[in-house]
Amino acid sequence: MPIPGSGLAKGLAVTLRTMTKRSHTAQYPEVQPELPPRSRGVIGLFEENCTVCMLCARECPDWCIYIDSHKETVPASTPGGRERSRNVLDRFAIDFSLCMYCGICIEVCPFDALFWSPEFEYAETDIHELTHERDKLREWMWTVPAPPALDPAAEEPKEIAAARKAVEKAEAAAAAAAAAEAAARAADTGPGTEAGTDPGTEPPTTATPEGDA
Ligand code: SF4
Ligand code: SF4
Repeated sequence: MPIPGSGLAKGLAVTLRTMTKRSHTAQYPEVQPELPPRSRGVIGLFEENCTVCMLCARECPDWCIYIDSHKETVPASTPGGRERSRNVLDRFAIDFSLCMYCGICIEVCPFDALFWSPEFEYAETDIHELTHERDKLREWMWTVPAPPALDPAAEEPKEIAAARKAVEKAEAAAAAAAAAEAAARAADTGPGTEAGTDPGTEPPTTATPEGDA
């Protein structure tokens, strides 16, 4: 038969034990949580990279990406060339009240126009406000963390390698042109004169230590 009051004593013992333990409660929002760098908070749009290919909207399982665009004719860049047409983005919106943060849109975008941002403080009292239009999606871009540094042993990214080779080629061409120009100038100065000296001036005389006796 249990001793009267033993249940109360046990309960108080549990309370005392818990009171002396360190609390795990985070004092949000006074203290911001330390989120992992790959947290999925909100999606940012870098619209300069978007070609309106519609892949993200087609692959989104929730159909919560809304894109509108129109076609524009780009005049030929050279005389006699062909005109081209390109898509111009009119609207890009994501409804975060439907989004399930699967990341498929970011994965399928072939032009690196969508990115995860760890920002999560965008709760609204009106559900319609959770549809973020392109301006808002662009603002989120500035909260996207920088990509992690490359492994020192990793292969150089293709884009960087191509840009580096283009710069090296341009520098080599400029150096070759400068060398050819210098050689042409040296040839123009004629025989008996050294490159870099004015052909109309006399060469400097050397003074003897004892004087000219
Ligand atoms: S994260 Fe998933 S659900 Fe959300 S917009 Fe992208 S594809 Fe759609
Ligand atoms: S997949 Fe990328 S490039 Fe294509 S419409 Fe979506 S954001 Fe734009």
